[in-house]
Amino acid sequence: MADYNVIVIGAGPAGYVAAIRCAQLGMKTACIDKWINSEGKSSLGGTCLNVGCIPSKALLDSSHHYYFMQKHAATHGITCKDLDIDVAAMQARKATVVKKLTQGIGALFKNNKVTSIEGTARLIGNQQIEVTAHDGSKQTLTTDNIIIATGSVPAKIPVAPTDDKLIVDSTGALAFDSVPQRLGVIGAGAIGLELGSVWSRLGSQVTILEALPDFLATADRKIATFAQRELKKQGLDIHLGASVTGTTVANNEVTVSYKDDKGEQQLLVDKLIVAVGRKPNTESLGAGELGIQINERGFIEVDEFRQTAVPGIYAVGDVIGGPMLAHKGSEEGVMVAERLAGHKSEMSYDTVPWVIYTWPEVAWVGKTEAELKGVAYKVGQFPFAASGRAQAHGDTSGMVRILADAETDRLLGVHIFGISASELISEAVVAMEFDGSAEDLARMIHAHPTLAEAVHEAALGVDGRMIHA
Ligand code: FAD
Ligand code: NAD
Repeated sequence: MADYNVIVIGAGPAGYVAAIRCAQLGMKTACIDKWINSEGKSSLGGTCLNVGCIPSKALLDSSHHYYFMQKHAATHGITCKDLDIDVAAMQARKATVVKKLTQGIGALFKNNKVTSIEGTARLIGNQQIEVTAHDGSKQTLTTDNIIIATGSVPAKIPVAPTDDKLIVDSTGALAFDSVPQRLGVIGAGAIGLELGSVWSRLGSQVTILEALPDFLATADRKIATFAQRELKKQGLDIHLGASVTGTTVANNEVTVSYKDDKGEQQLLVDKLIVAVGRKPNTESLGAGELGIQINERGFIEVDEFRQTAVPGIYAVGDVIGGPMLAHKGSEEGVMVAERLAGHKSEMSYDTVPWVIYTWPEVAWVGKTEAELKGVAYKVGQFPFAASGRAQAHGDTSGMVRILADAETDRLLGVHIFGISASELISEAVVAMEFDGSAEDLARMIHAHPTLAEAVHEAALGVDGRMIHA
C-alpha cells in the first residue's frame, strides 16, 4: 500500500486547494512545498500569497489611501495637514497580511488532515517522489496519484537582466524600501499596471514601456481606451510599441534603450521593474524523464481533465498555462480532486473572470467584441457617471459594457471599468455560468443605491431601454 492516496507538489492556490479538497473527500493526502520566504522560513501559499496577489493588493490598498487623501479627500470636506508616507510601516503591514494568510493555510491543512511536507519534490517514478528537505536530508514517498502544481516564476529578458537592486522583477518591486523618484516598468500587463500604480500613487514618476501597439490587448477596446486615459491622468506615462533593446546600470541609475515609432529612445530611471510575463516552473521536477509531455513554452501538457501523458499524474495551475490566475488554478485543483473521488466535475474556462486592480479596476468575463467576429451581437453600455452610488462615492469614471447574442440575447461578454469592478464581475460570471441572457440581468432586482445597478442598466441597454442614461 502506498504512503498516500494523493501527493500534491506545490502549495500555491492550485496545489493547496487541490490538497484540501482531496482530503475532504477522504483521500490520504500530502502537500510538498519548497517556498522559503525573505526571513528564511518555509511559507505556504506559493506565489499568490507570498509575492503575488495578496502583497500586491495590500500595497495597492495602502497606496490608494494615500492617493485619496492627497487628491480627493478635500472634495469630501476632509483635509489633513502633514500627510506623509512611511514605506517601512506600509511594508510591515503588507508582511503582516501575508503572514496571517500563509500561516492560515497551515491551519487549514491541519484542520483538513493534509500532511504538509517542507522541501523540494522530484518525480522518480509514476508513483514515487523524492523529497529533499531544506537541511539536505532526503526521503522517498509512494502515492497512488500525483498532482503537480509547481506554478510559475517571473520571465526574464536578456536585454534587461535583473540584479535585485536596480533592475527587479515583481518580487523586488513589492519590496522597495523607499519610493523611487523615477521608476521604469517593462510590460504594461497586470503586474506592470498594478505595481506601476502603487509606486506612482506614492510619488514615483512612472514610465511604462510596452512592446505591443495596443494597450491591454486582450481587453475590450473601449474599456482599454478609457483605462489608458484614466491611468495617464493619474500620472502613468505609458509608451506603446516600445521595444526595449538594452539596459545599462551606472551611478545608481538605469538607462533603458528602446525603439518606438519615433526611433531610438532612452529612459533614465532609479529603478526598473521587468514585468513581461511568467514562465512555468518545472525546474528539477523530473517530469520530462518520466514521460510527461512539456511543450515548447515549458508548460506541462494535460488532457481536458488535467491528466498528463502519465496515468495517475495530473497538473494544475500556472504550470499548465492558460490564464495564469490564482482562481483558475484553484478550480482546476478542485476538479482534479473531485474526479479522483469519482465525481463528474468539470471546469468552465469560458467563464474565468479577469481583473486588473488599478484604480478604478478593469474586469471582464467572456468574449470581447474583437473575439466575436462573425457573430451578430448587441451592446448595452452604461456609464458610472450616471450611477447614483458612484456619484455619492465621488468616483464616476468608467462604464459597464454588456455584449449579448443578437438573436438569442445570451450573454457573450461583460466588460467593466470602474470602482469595485472586481466584485461586480461576479454577477456576470453567475449569469453566464447559467447560460443567462441580458434580459435575465435586466429582470433581476438590484438594490438601490449600488454600483451593481450599473450592470442592471447596461443589461437594459442591450434592448435599448436604459432608465438612467
Ligand atoms: P504558485 O502560486 O506559483 O505556487 C507554486 C508552488 O509550488 C510554490 O510555492 C513553489 O515553491 C512550489 N514548488 C515549485 N516547484 C516545487 C518542487 N519541485 N517541490 C516543492 N514545491 C515546489 N492572480 C490572480 O488571480 N489575481 C491577482 O490579483 C494576482 N496578482 C498577482 C500579482 C503578482 C505580483 C504576481 C507575481 C502574480 C499575481 N497573480 C494573480 C498570479 C497568481 O499569483 C498565480 O496565477 C498563482 O499563484 C498560480 O498558482 P499556482 O498554485 O499554480 O502556482
Ligand atoms: P502579462 O502577460 O500580463 O503582461 C506582460 C506584458 O509585457 C505584455 O503586455 C507584453 O506584451 C509585455 N512585454 C513582454 N515582453 C516585453 C518586452 N520585451 N518589452 C516590452 N513589453 C513586453 O504578464 P505580467 O504582467 O508579468 O503578469 C504575469 C502573470 O501574472 C500574468 O499571467 C497575469 O495574468 C498574472 N497576474 C495577474 C494579476 C491579476 O489577476 N490582477 C495581477 C498580476 C499578475
